[in-house]
Amino acid sequence: MYDREKFLKALENKGYKARYFATGKEAADYVCSQVKGCTVGFGGSATIEELDLVDRLAENNTCFSPEMKYRPKELTFNEAALDTLRTDVFLLSVNGAAEDGTLVNIDGTGNRVGSSLFGHKKVYFIFSENKVMPTLDEAVERARNVASPKNAAFLECRTPCAVKGDKCYDCSSPDRICNAMVIYMHAMEGTEMEVVLTGETLGY
Ligand code: SF4
Repeated sequence: MYDREKFLKALENKGYKARYFATGKEAADYVCSQVKGCTVGFGGSATIEELDLVDRLAENNTCFSPEMKYRPKELTFNEAALDTLRTDVFLLSVNGAAEDGTLVNIDGTGNRVGSSLFGHKKVYFIFSENKVMPTLDEAVERARNVASPKNAAFLECRTPCAVKGDKCYDCSSPDRICNAMVIYMHAMEGTEMEVVLTGETLGY
């Protein structure tokens, strides 16, 4: 079990704004109230999908997502992902977090973690507190052995983790989705970063 107040304080000490909401809907309402009249890019995220944030934010913003269900049919994934790199605002989740305010993400193509580091006025990390672990080692363990296998299964990857559903096998599969891991030690210089944390369990 983690200490929520300690986590929120640690995030602020690392340069993030940090807000907690009991429910996903409250968190989504908050983000929608803050982001208007902007270009908005998205990293692939089950949390963002569950909160319907692409469609909700598109009501008052111009949104770009490389996901098949949102991107223009004439664009490839990479072409659509390039459109997310220079938006005013970028939204993503995390695969794990540590109580000391460190965040963890694993990516296959790099568009999600790459865009989270540079190129925007503001980045929002939206995730539920079940992803917050007492230590960084446990956050990395979660990202590798819980979040990534679940994501691989959702994406119907032909990987051992997706078939067995128990842990990462550090596979050599052509469908491997884990090629880079980013440890966010502190909010990036020159980009406003905000964590929106929910009590309601969302995503993987
Ligand atoms: S490295 Fe391979 S086995 Fe491990 S989580 Fe990623 S896709 Fe699954």
